[in-house]
Amino acid sequence: MTPGGRVRLHRRRRRRHLRVAPVPYDPCYPNTGGTVSADADCLFCKIAGGQIPADVVRESEHTLAFRDISPQAPTHVLVIPREHHRDVASLAAAAPGTLAELVREAAAVAAGEGIEAYRLVFNTGSEAGQSVFHVHGHVLGGRAMTWPPG
Ligand code: 5GP
Ligand code: ZN
Repeated sequence: MTPGGRVRLHRRRRRRHLRVAPVPYDPCYPNTGGTVSADADCLFCKIAGGQIPADVVRESEHTLAFRDISPQAPTHVLVIPREHHRDVASLAAAAPGTLAELVREAAAVAAGEGIEAYRLVFNTGSEAGQSVFHVHGHVLGGRAMTWPPG
């Protein structure tokens, strides 16, 4: 009985055992089905791990932002996840929260540099210009930009 005098009906809930299927390996998202947290041969993993120095401008729990060694604009900062993911689609599949954090950090880099307009570029694949296969957003700004990019 409840304090109001009503009889409380106890419904028996059928317990359902949800079976969570493992994420299948997808060649389009090479990091699904098992994320590699660091790659011993990866330049940006070494920067994230402090083995190679960089001009760091911002740090967050899951990301690091540092100046590009060969700047293509007055502001040219790379924002990377601390964990190794080869490209932006792999990061989106494996750790969407970290991708969102990376984009917020890119905006914070631009704000810190005092630029309102900036370009955030994720080269994906060597034909598109990706040379380091640890995802990084290029934050480019401080000059007028043309379109289409070369
Ligand atoms: P991607 O060509 O893969 O889109 O961009 C890689 C970027 O990393 C290039 O803009 C290149 O200048 C930069 N980069 C390559 N090696 C280093 C390095 O050792 N330190 C820093 N800070 N940037 C680097
Ligand atoms: Zn890496």
